Amino acid sequence: MQAAPHHGAVIGVDLGGTKLMAGLFDRTDRVVSRERVEVAGLDSDGLVDALVETVAALRSESEDDVDAVGFGIPTTIDQRTGTAVMAANLPLEDLPLRDLLGARTGLPVFLDNDANVAALAEQRLGAGAGVTDHLLMVTLGTGFGGGIVVDGRIVRGAIGAAAELGHMSIDYDGPPCVAPNCPGIGCIETFASGNALARDARAYAGANPDSPLGRAVAGGEPARGETVLRLAREGDASCIALLERLGERLGVALANFVNIFNPGMIAVGGGLSPALDVILPAARRVMVERALPPGNRFVEVVAATFGPDSGMVGAALMARDGLADTPHA
Ligand SMILES: [Zn+2]
Repeated sequence: MQAAPHHGAVIGVDLGGTKLMAGLFDRTDRVVSRERVEVAGLDSDGLVDALVETVAALRSESEDDVDAVGFGIPTTIDQRTGTAVMAANLPLEDLPLRDLLGARTGLPVFLDNDANVAALAEQRLGAGAGVTDHLLMVTLGTGFGGGIVVDGRIVRGAIGAAAELGHMSIDYDGPPCVAPNCPGIGCIETFASGNALARDARAYAGANPDSPLGRAVAGGEPARGETVLRLAREGDASCIALLERLGERLGVALANFVNIFNPGMIAVGGGLSPALDVILPAARRVMVERALPPGNRFVEVVAATFGPDSGMVGAALMARDGLADTPHA
């Protein structure tokens, strides 16, 4: 923890597409109270109201003064203005969120992308704790999320748009990116993500109707990760191969990350986590083959250890860092 002229409590808020989770962290960064609020269907006013009310509720329970509040939000934040940019799943676009929430809560407000704050939680208190100050976090869910921590701090870039790891291209002649707002070609998200696995599973099941996967899909099971994972667990070689292929593609991206950042650790989490025992060995092998020495041998590639609280905890840690960086806040 950075030395700071603040020794009170902080609040961390993780805003998702359907719910928000918030925690009150005492001066030793213990969670002393939590809130969980459904936000599906709220318009932007309703969403801001819900955030403000949640912060007020937690603040009223705090024995210490609350020094700041941090928000992890599933969108790019323009850090120059504290504005949410391209909020695909939330009605927050072009809202001057930092000013709005600061005025309504009366607290110093710090905002960041949810994947960035999750990476910070993983580095400080998860797999990276006591191991490294240089951690990359990859989230394999429906898409491919990323966060970068260097020297113990979130890497935001010039205006807050850094760490879009899923949009690293690994194929010059590849398919257009699956993300609707990305103009890229051959982005890793198109090859290693829940969406990519579903596409591969559909293609395989279609071409091999007599395979276990083909029969499962014909029988009504979804052509998605969970079906591939179930059959892989049962020893089906073709489903294991689909997961290994995804891991090998991931490994190409990891080799790029290793060459650029020389991380001490790459932690992988997200919805595909139950398949990491197959995905990670393949990813690690390809990364070691393709990345430059000595960084390729130095980096640990591990499963993330922080659970669903990572956004909330990371948001609180980010708020403390923000206070330390702006002592007048
Ligand atoms: Zn892309």
